[in-house]
Amino acid sequence: MIIAIDGPAGSGKSTVARMLAERLGFRYLDTGAMYRALTWKAMQENINLTDENALCRLMEQTSIEFQRKDENLLVFVDGVNITEEIRLPSVTNNVHYISDTPGVRHRMVKLQQKLASEGNTVAEGRDMGTVVFPQAEKKFFLDADIAERARRRYGEFKLPEKKFSYDDIIKDMEIRDRRDTTRNNSPLIKSSDAIYINTTKLTSEDVVNLILKEIRCVMKK
Ligand code: C5P
Repeated sequence: MIIAIDGPAGSGKSTVARMLAERLGFRYLDTGAMYRALTWKAMQENINLTDENALCRLMEQTSIEFQRKDENLLVFVDGVNITEEIRLPSVTNNVHYISDTPGVRHRMVKLQQKLASEGNTVAEGRDMGTVVFPQAEKKFFLDADIAERARRRYGEFKLPEKKFSYDDIIKDMEIRDRRDTTRNNSPLIKSSDAIYINTTKLTSEDVVNLILKEIRCVMKK
């Protein structure tokens, strides 16, 4: 069974997907982390981020793996734990080069489908319901007001990153939203059969419970 969760940054989808996977005993697939991981590797190797051939080659040569540790999901590139590195602002600012490269997306989608074929999965990203898992048993699209999304993101930042103001984060989010929703390749849109949840005034627990209610109906069938 696949549960697909899409939505913009700060909509709460990562926390909700992780909690949901934990409750259901499903795997948790964080596809944003995969695009971030390849971005990190490309930056390490000083690869031109607009060179599609070089990025596709890099994707072919790179292993991206996950490991569950307590309630955290660790991300490994070629066996090296880069869970923290992929959240650096430099990676966040450059990930759009990678996620808007058709050849990379094509390979990434295949890898995501392979990982999900290994067992029941909660998959989270931008194109889960539309492109990667159109056959998912249940799809959700999480959203929230941008002010709330920025507030959540600001709260997640560690001290050295607090040099970014709340206004900087709103601006960055607006840019990222525009890029993600207007790009030619698999833009962020709600799949027509996805259930829309506005999480602005909800806790993660509320959202998980809403989703669990919906899923239980499918599981009973
Ligand atoms: O979810 P997260 O913020 O970690 O995703 C980082 C970036 O990866 C997004 O801004 C988007 O450009 C890209 N992404 C994507 N497709 C996905 C997941 C993430 O294009 N399925």
